[in-house]
Amino acid sequence: MTEATDARALLADRLAAVRARVDAACAASGRPRGSVRVLLATKTVDAARVRLALEADRAAVDADPSLAPVLVGENRVQELVAKGPDLADLAPTTHLIGPLQSNKVNAALRWVSCVESVASPDLAARLSDRCTDRPAPLDVLVQVNVSGEETKHGVPLGDAAALAVDVAALPGLRLAGFMTVGLRSPDADAVGAGYAALAALRDDVLRSGEPGTAEARTLSMGMSGDLEVAVAHGATLVRVGSAVFGARPQP
Ligand SMILES: *Cc1c(COP(=O)(O)O)cnc(C)c1O
Repeated sequence: MTEATDARALLADRLAAVRARVDAACAASGRPRGSVRVLLATKTVDAARVRLALEADRAAVDADPSLAPVLVGENRVQELVAKGPDLADLAPTTHLIGPLQSNKVNAALRWVSCVESVASPDLAARLSDRCTDRPAPLDVLVQVNVSGEETKHGVPLGDAAALAVDVAALPGLRLAGFMTVGLRSPDADAVGAGYAALAALRDDVLRSGEPGTAEARTLSMGMSGDLEVAVAHGATLVRVGSAVFGARPQP
């Protein structure tokens, strides 16, 4: 076996293990199999390894067409732009999951179909301006800081509904839901409280009847360490990095 074949097989095994965890979590909370999408968080992973993971995923989906292909999520526009051309032939569905500076909007929009990290009216307005002449609006999620930790990106929970309503009304954007990075804690109840709060916010916004809010169903929450907690609270998308790619180098 070649090195690449070995590496692909390892990634395939880990990806299958993540899918099994998601399936088990769905079953445990009475949710249908397939109701949670898996996104590969590829920060610090080079394009060649992302390619192997995507190839492993394509093979899994070919073998079981009931599976939805994985999504790709990048945190940094610099990495997005660097890896984009190398992966273009695979045409992965890519989301931006990290903060976006206004001077990088154009560069990011070339590669992503969804920005999960909208946390200010300014960024939303700028994105909308750039997207009004597209054939379809850009999907966005409002990123909420459910834990209130100061280091975390995201709009405070108390301001999130108002931001969502503003975003939903912008012509270039489609409000597809909400995203959060959960509390980093071994206390599953504390982590779960944050995810429950995001789910309650989503339900409030869906019920509001405000223009453009009717499709805001996505709940992007849960990572390698806590995806079961997130699925139990209604996650529709989990973002998984280290469970597939292994530990990242410390910054
Ligand atoms: C890194 C990252 C993830 C994945 O984290 P893991 O613990 O490696 O699964 C998910 N979401 C965001 C926003 C990230 O930055």
